[in-house]
Amino acid sequence: MKIGILSREPKSFSTQRLEEAAIARGHEAHVINTLRCYMNISSKHPSVHYQGQRLEGFDAIIPRIGASITFYGTAVVRQFEMMGVYTLNESVAISRSRDKLRALQLLSRHDIGLPTTGFANATDDITDLIQLVQGAPLVVKLLEGSQGRGVVLAETQQAAESVIDAFTGLKANILVQQYIPEAGGSDIRCFVVGDKVVAAMKRQAPEGEFRSNLHRGGHAEMIKITPEERKTAVRATRILGLNIAGVDILRSNQGPMVLEVNSSPGLEGIETTTHKDIAGTIIEFIEQHAKPNHSKTKGKG
Ligand code: ADP
Repeated sequence: MKIGILSREPKSFSTQRLEEAAIARGHEAHVINTLRCYMNISSKHPSVHYQGQRLEGFDAIIPRIGASITFYGTAVVRQFEMMGVYTLNESVAISRSRDKLRALQLLSRHDIGLPTTGFANATDDITDLIQLVQGAPLVVKLLEGSQGRGVVLAETQQAAESVIDAFTGLKANILVQQYIPEAGGSDIRCFVVGDKVVAAMKRQAPEGEFRSNLHRGGHAEMIKITPEERKTAVRATRILGLNIAGVDILRSNQGPMVLEVNSSPGLEGIETTTHKDIAGTIIEFIEQHAKPNHSKTKGKG
């Protein structure tokens, strides 16, 4: 097969592993810089061009779309869908998962466990917003944040009010969420491929920190997840319409609660922690599922 990896970072661990795994399984692999793609939208024959050439003959595209380029990245993926090329995650599903509000709304509609969450743009009634999530301590999150940036634990009502006031004063979209203390500064990353959790790791925050992001000094270890956690991760992936995803789950007294579903999950942490060949599993999934003109949505919202 001819496989294109849409990535802005040809040297990143994830991109290199996917390229290696594709080649090791006898395929042709091309890393394509997403932002350097340009497209012909008006013609009856949609096309993607790159470095002066029309991209042709691809059997599958693996989108690795970073949060900062969601808009352009999903447009490129959509163009491939319109050309009938199989894309591992479809553009619509990537957009759904990227928009934290939309993702949580979709998941709640399907009864996936979630921390109680309130949304606000600018509100005069901060006290009521805080009551909505059962008061302090609570977590305030910037909607556009990633890697734990813009995620604040407000331990008292007063702290919560000032943080919310500061964020809304900056016209930032925020999400106010029930704090799950029993998670103990850890979360579980479930790596889903198709309808299976193929690997899972627990990330633990360093002492004195509640955010377990590896970029914030958290450390990862292998973990055996429960059947309920497995089911939750697979269902959350399916509800958003993704084929591969990194589902972040908190272990709460009320059962698994989904924090986020990531449509371009990194491979470095999960492969080095679990010693599993996840890149190979992804390529194998593509071998089994890539068919031309097979996109469910063809880029339609
Ligand atoms: P980001 O997308 O920026 O990583 P998250 O929502 O995943 O933001 O939050 C970062 C980390 O903070 C999580 O991995 C988790 O360890 C911790 N965390 C987030 N929300 C909660 C919560 N409601 N209760 C307890 N811990 C939380």
